[in-house]
Amino acid sequence: MAKIKTGILGYPRIGENRELKKATEQYWKGEIKAEELLKSAAALRKQNWQKQKAAGLDFIPSNDFSFYDQMLDMSCLLGNVPDRFKWNGKNIGVETVFFMARGSGATAKEKETQACEMTKWLDTNYHYIVPEFESKSAFKISSTKIFDEFSEALALGIKTRPVLIGPMTYLTLGKMQDSNANRFRLLDQLLPVYVEILKKLKALGAEWVQIDEPMFAFDLNLEQKQGLQKAYEKLSAVAGLNIMVATYFEELRANLDTFLSLPVQALHIDAVRGKKEIEKILEKFPKNKILSVGIVDGRNIWKNDFKESLKILEKAKASLGEERIIVSSSCSLTHSPITLKNEKKLDSEFKSWLAFADEKLEEIASLAKILAGKAGDAILKENQAALDSRKKSSRIHNQQVKKRTAAVKPADMKRKSAFARRQQTQRKELRLPAFPTTTIGSFPQTKEVRANRLKLKKNEITQAQYDSFIEEEIKNAVKIQDKIGLDVYVHGEFERNDMVEYFGELLEGFAFTQNAWVQSYGSRYVKPPIIFGDVSRPQPMTVRWSKFAQSLTKKPMKGMLTGPVTIAQWSFVRNDQPRSESVMQIALAIRDEVVDLEKAGISVIQIDEPAIREGLPLRRSDWKDYLDWSVKAFRLSASGVKDETQIHTHMCYSEFNDIIEAIADMDADVISIESSRSKMELLDVFVDFKYPNEIGPGVYDIHSPRVPSKTEMEELLEKADKVLPAENIWVNPDCGLKTRQWEEVKPALINMVEAAKAIRQRVKVAG
Ligand code: GLN
Ligand code: ZN
Repeated sequence: MAKIKTGILGYPRIGENRELKKATEQYWKGEIKAEELLKSAAALRKQNWQKQKAAGLDFIPSNDFSFYDQMLDMSCLLGNVPDRFKWNGKNIGVETVFFMARGSGATAKEKETQACEMTKWLDTNYHYIVPEFESKSAFKISSTKIFDEFSEALALGIKTRPVLIGPMTYLTLGKMQDSNANRFRLLDQLLPVYVEILKKLKALGAEWVQIDEPMFAFDLNLEQKQGLQKAYEKLSAVAGLNIMVATYFEELRANLDTFLSLPVQALHIDAVRGKKEIEKILEKFPKNKILSVGIVDGRNIWKNDFKESLKILEKAKASLGEERIIVSSSCSLTHSPITLKNEKKLDSEFKSWLAFADEKLEEIASLAKILAGKAGDAILKENQAALDSRKKSSRIHNQQVKKRTAAVKPADMKRKSAFARRQQTQRKELRLPAFPTTTIGSFPQTKEVRANRLKLKKNEITQAQYDSFIEEEIKNAVKIQDKIGLDVYVHGEFERNDMVEYFGELLEGFAFTQNAWVQSYGSRYVKPPIIFGDVSRPQPMTVRWSKFAQSLTKKPMKGMLTGPVTIAQWSFVRNDQPRSESVMQIALAIRDEVVDLEKAGISVIQIDEPAIREGLPLRRSDWKDYLDWSVKAFRLSASGVKDETQIHTHMCYSEFNDIIEAIADMDADVISIESSRSKMELLDVFVDFKYPNEIGPGVYDIHSPRVPSKTEMEELLEKADKVLPAENIWVNPDCGLKTRQWEEVKPALINMVEAAKAIRQRVKVAG
C-alpha cells in the first residue's frame, strides 16, 4: 500500500519560549537592529520546518510565519498600504508592517498616524489587521516575503506549500473607506496580481499552494459565491501549479456546492467542526480532486480520538481512494500552544490527555500510517488507553456537580420579583443619589502589586505577608474613594492577576500550564486555562476581600465576579461535553459565590460578561441557541439573591446591536458599558430598544492616559440624559482601571464625580 499523504495548514510562529515576542519587543525598543530580528525569525522558521519534516509531513506550509499577522502580510504582498503610512512604493519590510499595525513610528509625525483597525479572526481570539479599501485602490506585488520564505525552505531541502489568504476572503474581511462603494468590485484588480504571485511561486519551484478562504464559514450571498467561482477560474489557469482551497471553523451548509465546484486540484475541510457533513461531502465530491481532511483539531488542546477519526478517514479512503486524501489539521496550528515537553508541572496522566502543536504533528502522521495499514495496534492501543483514562478519571467527573446541573429549574434562573419592583426595593435599601457614581472594578495594578504577587509565587514572602499587603492596598483604595466622593465603592481587585485566571485557580476542574502561549495579536500572547473537569467551588473565592473592604466604609462595597460565559470563552474548554454544560457548571459556582457575598453583607454585586458578544457563532442560525444558554447561565449565577441585592453586569469593546435582546433578557439591575470612545454612539441600541433596566454608559476612556475634563464628561452625561430616563443613569468609566496609573485615575475620577454633581443639579430625577 502507498503512503497516505499528510499536511497542516500552518504552524505556530511564536517559538517554544516566546522567542518572537522577545525579539520583536527588543526591536521596538531599539535594543536590536532589524537584521537581528530577521535572523531570529529565520531561526524559528527553520526549526518549525524541520520539526514538521521530522514528523514526516508531506505538505509543509511556508508564509504561515508572520511578524504580526497574515492578513497584514497579504496587504503588504498586494501593496495595499493606506496613504497615511506614506509608503514609498518599494519592497515592504518589517518597518512598514509594524507601522501599519501599531501606528507609531520613529518620528513625531509618524506617531500621529493612526494604526490600521484590528479585529477578531472569525470566532477565534486571534486578531487580524483589517485591510482598507477605496474605490481607487490599486494592487501590485510589493513584498518578497512569500517568495523569500519559499526559497529559504527550499535551501534547507524542504519544498513547502506556500499559504495565501484567498482574494474573496481578503475582500470580505476588509473594509471600504469610501462608504457606499462595493469592495467586491475590486476583485478584477486583485486577480491579475494573484495570478502573478502564483506564477512567480511556480517559477521558484512550487508545486502546490494553499489558498485560505475561511469565508466559507459565513452565510454567503450570491455575489460572494460568484466572486469565488470567478476567482478560481482565473487562478487555476496558472499552468503546472496545483491549488488547494481551504475552509475551516465551520460546516459548509449552503456553501457546499460552490465549494465543491471550485476548479482547483484540492479542497480542505474542517472535519472537526464540520464532522456532520462529511458523508454528504464524500457523496458529492468531484472525481479527480483531492480532499484534505482536517481531522486533528487545530484549536483545542485535547488528544485526538484515533478510533473516531479513523472511522471518518476510512470512509474517505473507501470513497476517494488513498491517493486522493490528505490527513491534516482542521485549521492552522497557530491557534494551539506549541509543545507539551516544557510543561513540567502537569502530571503525566494529565499530559497523556493533551496534544499541543508538536503532538498534533505526531497524531497526523500516526493516523495516516494506521490508515495505510503501516502501523497498527500498539499506537491505537496507547491512544485508546489515554482516552479511557480521561473518560473514567475521578479528577474529571464529579457526580454531585452533574446532578446539580441536571436539577436546575426555571425558577433558579429568575429573580424573585420583576425589575420594577426590585428597583423600588433597592432604592430604599441603598439610598443612592441620582446619577450614582462607581467604577468598573479594578484599580491600578502598580509595580508593587505585581512585585508582591511574584514574590509570593517564588515563596519570597509568606501568604500572611501577601494578604496583609493586599489589605493595605484595599485600605488605600477606600481612602481614595472617600476623598473622591464616589457612591458605590470597589475594593480594587489587587489580589487578581487576571479576571479569568484568578477564578480558575480557585475552582475545581481547571488546570494551568507554564508555557502554553497562543498569539492573540502582535506580540501579545495569552495562556488560557484548561477546563478539563466538572467545575465546582470548594470554598468562597472573593468573600474575604469584599467583606474586609466593606468593613472599612458605610458606602456600598460592590462585590466583583467574572461571569460564566466569559470564564469559558477565555479558556480551553472540554470536548467531551457541550460547551453550554461547562458554562452551566461555572454558573452554579458563581451563584454560590454571589449568595455568600450577600450573606457577608455585600449589597451590590457585579458579574462581568465582557466576552458574551465575541462568543457569538459565525452562522446567524446558530445565534439563538448560543444566546439562550448564555443568558440562562448568567441568570443562574445572578438569581440566588433577595430583591434588595443589586446585581450589576459589565460589557465592553463590542457592538451590542446583535445581542441587545439577550442583554435585556439577562435582567441585571444595572449594566455598565463602554461608550465614551464612540461619544455615546454605542448607547443608541439601548435607546432604540428602550432598555428597561439601569445603565451606566462609560464617560471616561480608560485606554488613554489622558484625564478627561469635568465638562466633557458632563456633556456625555447630558447626551445620555436626553435619550434615557434620568433615574436609570449611572456614572462610570468605560472599563476597569488596572492598566492606568493612580496619578491619572485620581483626577479623572474627581472630574467624573464633579460631572455627576453638575448634572444632578440641573436634572430633576423622579423616584
Ligand atoms: N472588573 C473588571 C475590571 O475592572 C472588568 C474588566 C473587563 O471588562 N475586561 O478590570
Ligand atoms: Zn470592560
